[in-house]
Amino acid sequence: MTTVSAGQAPKTTSPAQKALQKLGLARDMDLALHLPLRYEDETRITRLADVHDGQLVQIEARVVRSEVTLGPRRQLKVQVDDGSDRCLLRFLNFYPSHQKTLTEGAMVRVRGEIRGGFLGREMVHPSFKIAGGALPQALTPVYPTVAQLPQAYLRKAVMGGLGRADLFETLPPGAWPRWAGPLWTLRQALEFLHQPSPDVSLAAIEDRSHPAWQRLKAEELLAQQLSQLEARHARDAMRSPVLRSGQSGPQPALRKRFLQALPFELTRAQQRVEALQGDVGSGKTVVAALAALRCIEAGWQCALMAPTEILAEQHFRKLVGWLEPLGLQTAWLTGSQKAAERRASLAAIAAGQAALVVGTHAVIEDTVQFKQLALAIIDEQHRFGVAQRLALRGKMSCDRQGRTLEPHLLMMSATPIPRTLAMSYYADLDVSTIDELPPGRSPIVTKVVNQARRDEIVARIGEQVASGRQVYWVCPLIEESEAIDLRNATETHAELMAALPGHTVGLLHSRMPTAEKKTVMAAFAGGQMAVLVSTTVIEVGVDVPNASLMVIEHAERFGLSQLHQLRGRVGRGAAASACVLMYSTGDGPRLGETARARLQAMAQTQDGFEIARRDLEIRGPGEFLGARQSGAPLLRFADLATDGQWLDWARELAPIMRDQHPQLARGHVQRWLGGKSEFVKA
Ligand code: ADP
Ligand code: MG
Repeated sequence: MTTVSAGQAPKTTSPAQKALQKLGLARDMDLALHLPLRYEDETRITRLADVHDGQLVQIEARVVRSEVTLGPRRQLKVQVDDGSDRCLLRFLNFYPSHQKTLTEGAMVRVRGEIRGGFLGREMVHPSFKIAGGALPQALTPVYPTVAQLPQAYLRKAVMGGLGRADLFETLPPGAWPRWAGPLWTLRQALEFLHQPSPDVSLAAIEDRSHPAWQRLKAEELLAQQLSQLEARHARDAMRSPVLRSGQSGPQPALRKRFLQALPFELTRAQQRVEALQGDVGSGKTVVAALAALRCIEAGWQCALMAPTEILAEQHFRKLVGWLEPLGLQTAWLTGSQKAAERRASLAAIAAGQAALVVGTHAVIEDTVQFKQLALAIIDEQHRFGVAQRLALRGKMSCDRQGRTLEPHLLMMSATPIPRTLAMSYYADLDVSTIDELPPGRSPIVTKVVNQARRDEIVARIGEQVASGRQVYWVCPLIEESEAIDLRNATETHAELMAALPGHTVGLLHSRMPTAEKKTVMAAFAGGQMAVLVSTTVIEVGVDVPNASLMVIEHAERFGLSQLHQLRGRVGRGAAASACVLMYSTGDGPRLGETARARLQAMAQTQDGFEIARRDLEIRGPGEFLGARQSGAPLLRFADLATDGQWLDWARELAPIMRDQHPQLARGHVQRWLGGKSEFVKA
């Protein structure tokens, strides 16, 4: 926002300006949309005689005594009197300027929380200034901020941005729904929310039911729907290779031969879907293989990317097993592979000899050049950021006429996307769901058990491994500290080794070197290892059908979808499987109300969609969208759990606006998303 005129050196950015940038407040519109966290009422002066304990008030009073006391801590104590009563102002940190303003005889305006102290009323660290000057007419906004950015500076910047922002009406006439009550313009809504008049119901602002809030929610959801519509049109205009199937392609009947060789029949759901989400263990991998074969039959290359090396390797082994007998070459790409091996892979990919490429993030690196990529498959797509998805799509190929084409994209996920979220964030995608498990699966029995019964659980593990079954033990997740995670896992590993003589107990955690991880995983997958103790690195995708018991320690620390993913590691074969959600009550005697309700919900349902819905209520959309890595514009004002009506309205209005009011539509998206709209296209 610094303006630099010709011939002048650019102004250096102050810490406050840097902080503004850090908060993403670059444009006037960004500032205008930076709404207060709460408000303070500085519009009135309260008499000390009328205040009650705990009240946040503003008083005007005269300083009757001011002294610095030297007890255990140096303090500034200031006695004030407003004619109705007295009050003590106490400062534990203070500067000479404090003493200067709060000098005996001065009239001061003071704001703070009143406490009925032992020696009468007091305020600790109130804010104050010399009395006089008009009282503000509006409530004072308090903005979300960071350390280097004082409220006063931010307030001024926001008011400036709001004043300059061009808030022309983008809603076409008649678009505002009847049920929403009176129409507020965007300017009215923003001016109101930045400076509400003191007589307003703060409750209506706080619960976001106020008409000003309705306008913002409507605006935001409309911007989101419009930009997705835009993305969809842009994508439709982009050509992707035609994947002609059947006999006419250069490699006919691959899929038929593949299905004949497969040791099982496809479920009906697997036959139906091509682009998909499917609950854990529903068998997405085989569907991915089918899609890949369709692409290869038509003479193109396919890439498959998975979020962890363990998972990518598992896919690689499985797919090589499936595709090699069909005479197809699969290339492997990962960050940890040796240079020579990598060079060979890259060459095979560039020459088009590798029909399929499987790997981790390494697949999207610049050095990877495909000869003719027509299909990009992303497994556990929620684990990838939007930028990574874009990069994979950006591996353009040329068709035989030399035109640049964009690959088809197949994203797979077992973290089901609740309906409202799918409509809102993935409005431009076709979603298919594998809603059927392979035959012969028995439901997983889920038990919620107190950590105090750990010995019983260990005994149960003993029984399982004695009968040839395998067991996962997942250790607590402590977000802040990988080191503590590790200590817990190591201790549990030692404990189980001691308790299970004659059986192999392995340990897997994210800090281990890749080669070691692979060895451990291979031993578990191959059945030589009975118990696998791990941190959450096994969370996604791992498929070991002989594992029948999953123990999750400190289950109360996991999100529901994550628990569902973890639980999905068992129950993948015919054996009866169980999942033990072990909880700890910490220092208290019992688990908190919500924590218990959440674990109980896990025990009651195995339906990933139902679990996702509850998780959305508890944790909001970020978890499903992988937004943390992506910077995708999440909803700030609307709440999908409660604003479904606005979502429906926006979905209906967006295409009409695009067709009949293209100028307004563009203006609206530009205003809300500015430079961020690129992300929506992923
Ligand atoms: P996810 O959907 O969680 O990725 P996977 O693709 O790993 O599931 O499949 C889970 C297990 O089910 C694998 O061992 C796979 O071989 C098996 N499977 C998949 N489809 C079928 C089917 N139609 N019949 C029997 N087993 C199947
Ligand atoms: Mg999978």
